[in-house]
Amino acid sequence: MEMINQVLKDVFGYTEFRAGQREVIHYIEEQQDVLGIMPTGSGKSICYQLPASAFARLTIVVSPLISLMKDQVDAANQLGISATYINSSLDYSGVLDRIRGLRQGAFKLLYIAPERFVMPEFQELLNSLPVDLIAVDEAHCISHWGHDFRPSYLEMADYLNHLPNRPTVVALTATATPLVAEDIKQLLCIPQQNQVATGFARENLSFQVITDQKKEMYLLEYLKLNKGQAGIIYANTRKEVERIYHLLKSEGLSIGYYHAGLKDVERTKFQEDFLYDRIQTIVATNAFGMGINKSNVRFVIHAQIPGTMEAYYQEAGRAGRDGLPSDAILLFAPQDLQVHQYFIEQSQRSHELKQNEYTKLREMSQYSNTEGCLQQFILRYFGQESAPCGRCSNCLDNRARVEITKEAQMVLSCVKRMDERFGKGLVTKVLTGSKDQKIDQFGFAKLSTYGLMKGSSQKEVTSLIDFLTAEGLLAPSKGQYPTLLVTEKGIDVLKGQQTVYRKEQRQARKLEQNNELFEQLREIRTMIAEETNVPPYVVFSDATLKDMSTQIPTSRLDLLQIKGVGQNKLDKYGEQFLACLQNYQPAEAEE
Ligand code: ADP
Ligand code: ZN
Repeated sequence: MEMINQVLKDVFGYTEFRAGQREVIHYIEEQQDVLGIMPTGSGKSICYQLPASAFARLTIVVSPLISLMKDQVDAANQLGISATYINSSLDYSGVLDRIRGLRQGAFKLLYIAPERFVMPEFQELLNSLPVDLIAVDEAHCISHWGHDFRPSYLEMADYLNHLPNRPTVVALTATATPLVAEDIKQLLCIPQQNQVATGFARENLSFQVITDQKKEMYLLEYLKLNKGQAGIIYANTRKEVERIYHLLKSEGLSIGYYHAGLKDVERTKFQEDFLYDRIQTIVATNAFGMGINKSNVRFVIHAQIPGTMEAYYQEAGRAGRDGLPSDAILLFAPQDLQVHQYFIEQSQRSHELKQNEYTKLREMSQYSNTEGCLQQFILRYFGQESAPCGRCSNCLDNRARVEITKEAQMVLSCVKRMDERFGKGLVTKVLTGSKDQKIDQFGFAKLSTYGLMKGSSQKEVTSLIDFLTAEGLLAPSKGQYPTLLVTEKGIDVLKGQQTVYRKEQRQARKLEQNNELFEQLREIRTMIAEETNVPPYVVFSDATLKDMSTQIPTSRLDLLQIKGVGQNKLDKYGEQFLACLQNYQPAEAEE
């Protein structure tokens, strides 16, 4: 067997490379710089961990978030690859210890943030160490045209390019449009053709967009159906995060929250509770996640739309890194777009960057409203053609369509008769024939549309208005208290030149269930994790436990055949899992 295949088996416990891994590693073996564009969960870490373990003397990993480093170092050490990090969480003597270790060749992997990389002290250290490989993780941070731009990445690139004995550079990212990929290669001086792109598709993710539905109800229903599964709920503002958190908490769900306004101790506590599987769900702003390697996240729900496809795909991509079936759900409401527009308007950016942001927001909004395959839409955005996925909410949509042209005309003409000067609330009241004092005040009881829908509840009419807005027949004005306007498309409907259809509401779906043995193995994993003070998914991934629970190995040799069980982990944990597996009696099938 080729040497690197042997290392893959012995160290990582895998028999086959995933797409792209071998190619990237070959470039590194040949001491050629390379850019790897591979989706989240595709196994980018192995692209530098394997060379680090097999043939590089010292590998430096430039990683944007120090909160991630401890986790990454734990994971490498669990595999038996000696790793360390240097960052501001260490005190002076801690840093000195690690530098001494590095000088003595005690480590194969060093994790560092780009800000530290460019410090003169670090440069000096660097020059005295036998660095063979530099891995630039989240390499899209180098480009202005993606998102998450970090100035220190640029500085670092500049520094790297001026090193007298430049080590091999491997840049890795999950999100790069063709423009961003070119930028990365150019800035890091990676030869044009040295690129490995495996495609952006995530075969295990099911993308879903839920429009025109009460978000709170949907969230509750979904979380109750999927009790025991780990997930992230993203919202755009701290206020909204707290609102959703309190709401779900009051329903007795196992939940925490996270945003930049929390005190450090609180933030750390919620984060750890989530990583260690002590709470099921976390509600968070986008401040949460860059530093999260947790591989057993079964769902990511966006309660509000993010501002760009890049951000959406990156955040949604935190579901299912272990390759098991997972959900990526976006709850869409048109008014959430206005918040983004407002922020873009208010920002101090240049005109050019602002236009870029408006375009990105428009594309995100198109994603929410497309009737085509969602995965296909995302891939096309990143410059890749593909067939429909067969898993997303559009591919699987078989809801009945009901014609609602007449109801739509009632709403639209009511908005017109109110001179397009009022918001959703008052239009609803007029249509349902409310006796509200404002109705009196404006004399709306005299309108021909007053009470036209008195058979419907206010809730139903509001939801219809939201639907017509999402369909682009009504448009809310800008600002905090938007008034409703009828669009040109809406006028066509009023004139009877267009029919309107609406689909039934979507039901929350249940994720694939785990079997009983899996749950037993999971308990052992939790116990080991607490004892060794590493998150459960660092001990073994859900995919590994799943494989165990279906193969039911009962000897060390059999256990070693399970995906993700390498020599080091077998020696450390094999006995505990074997004890459980050997004792397991499958329940008798019922007659
Ligand atoms: P990324 O950094 O690309 O998001 P990771 O490096 O965290 O992905 O890997 C995701 C998961 O896939 C990890 O649990 C990892 O062990 C697993 N994995 C990586 N390579 C392979 C492989 N060749 N076969 C099976 N599983 C793999
Ligand atoms: Zn699809």
